[in-house]
Amino acid sequence: MAAQKAALAEAEARCEARGQTWTAPRRRTYELLLAAATPRTAYELMAALKRGARYVGPPTVYRALDFLVAMGLAHRVESRKAYVACAAPDDPHAAAFLICDRCGRTEELLRHLDDWGLAPAGFVVRSVILEIRGECRACR
Ligand SMILES: [Zn+2]
Ligand SMILES: [Zn+2]
Repeated sequence: MAAQKAALAEAEARCEARGQTWTAPRRRTYELLLAAATPRTAYELMAALKRGARYVGPPTVYRALDFLVAMGLAHRVESRKAYVACAAPDDPHAAAFLICDRCGRTEELLRHLDDWGLAPAGFVVRSVILEIRGECRACR
């Protein structure tokens, strides 16, 4: 898919710009997240990475996921203990998710951190993770 290819190329450029190495496990993990419609657990990613490749241990996958989250390329969906590719890595935003209770489809709602206006003066918001549960259009 062209959009996926572009996202991969952008991610690689982003890593290089920050002096990070875009390793094969990082790329493969990100690729799997981009292709997924629902959040993926580390275990699911591990199983997928093993297929056709050398053995990929849990530490490799967890390190790759930590890296992707730190780079703003992915988010962790806490209630699912799973990960999704970020819909807009270049935009500073709060990660808010619309999660379908039936099919698990997860959509990212993009809101700038400043738009939330949640915190009292003097409190610096570094991240917001919001999970909104319901039923998606397809399941209703
Ligand atoms: Zn995001
Ligand atoms: Zn659904």
